[in-house]
Amino acid sequence: MYYNEDTIVYYNGEFVKATEAKGNVYDQSLHYGYAVFEGIRSYTTHNGTKIFKAKEHFNRMQFSCESIGIPYTFNNQELIDISYEVLRRNNLSDAYIRPLVTCTPNMQLTKGREAQLLICAWEWGAYLGEKLLRLTTSSYRRITPACFKVEAKVSGHYINSIMATQEAKDKGFDEALLLDVNGFVAEGPGANIFFEVDGVLHTPQLGSILPGITRATVLDICNDLGIEVVQRQIKPEEVKGADGSFMCGTAAEVIGIQSLDDVAFTKPWSETLGARIQKAYKNLVLEKEYNTVLKVA
Ligand code: PMP
Repeated sequence: MYYNEDTIVYYNGEFVKATEAKGNVYDQSLHYGYAVFEGIRSYTTHNGTKIFKAKEHFNRMQFSCESIGIPYTFNNQELIDISYEVLRRNNLSDAYIRPLVTCTPNMQLTKGREAQLLICAWEWGAYLGEKLLRLTTSSYRRITPACFKVEAKVSGHYINSIMATQEAKDKGFDEALLLDVNGFVAEGPGANIFFEVDGVLHTPQLGSILPGITRATVLDICNDLGIEVVQRQIKPEEVKGADGSFMCGTAAEVIGIQSLDDVAFTKPWSETLGARIQKAYKNLVLEKEYNTVLKVA
């Protein structure tokens, strides 16, 4: 599904077949989850294939590596060019691009000695689907800045996301909502969250969340469309049964939420601010004009 015999990846300085790329079983990353990755999308726009927010993603990858001591020896503009080349060699346009930085053999719990880089890509539909989501509050709390560099996109952090997602699915829900260690709303396992209350959007402040590039884009869209957004600490009981809610992330894009723990959000999705933002986001990634079309309330 992610690759076949013809798939080409960029691995340690070369374009090679995915089936022939070889890792080392003593890599520090494999043993300790000590790696950094990104999730990026490209779109078929009227200006050709365009990687959305490419610079922001590679800058975050650099920030993530530097935050946890993985030596970063890459040039981000070169990585953007390589990503386009990976798309071209695989004949992809609407795609998901996955760069991964791993560390060489080292069984010590010391910082990485040398970084290795993989860039691969595949076609991936909306990560959380297209239907409104039924969320449940996770019994797992989001990782905390007292223990991790929460703002870095580190592979090991995703054990928390895997446990929360599987728990939600086992309970018959579509997706989890994680609270932070103090009981405030944090985020989904792979996306940020917004709530609509009386015409204003509320979203968790930075601190215990991944500062999503899509979240930042949504904030820009809201600024353009004149939608007020408050970033603050949110108690889950305040937003249960609110007017609306949506999650956002590169893979998920903007996706509406039907209910939290079976308490429905009250407005029909099509009448929510989230639905307007979803359209605006789609237009933006496709490099279409959006502000003139959607500004009318
Ligand atoms: N939170 C988490 C935990 C994530 O994994 C992601 C996906 N990268 C996001 C939020 C959304 O981030 P972005 O918009 O940069 O994809």
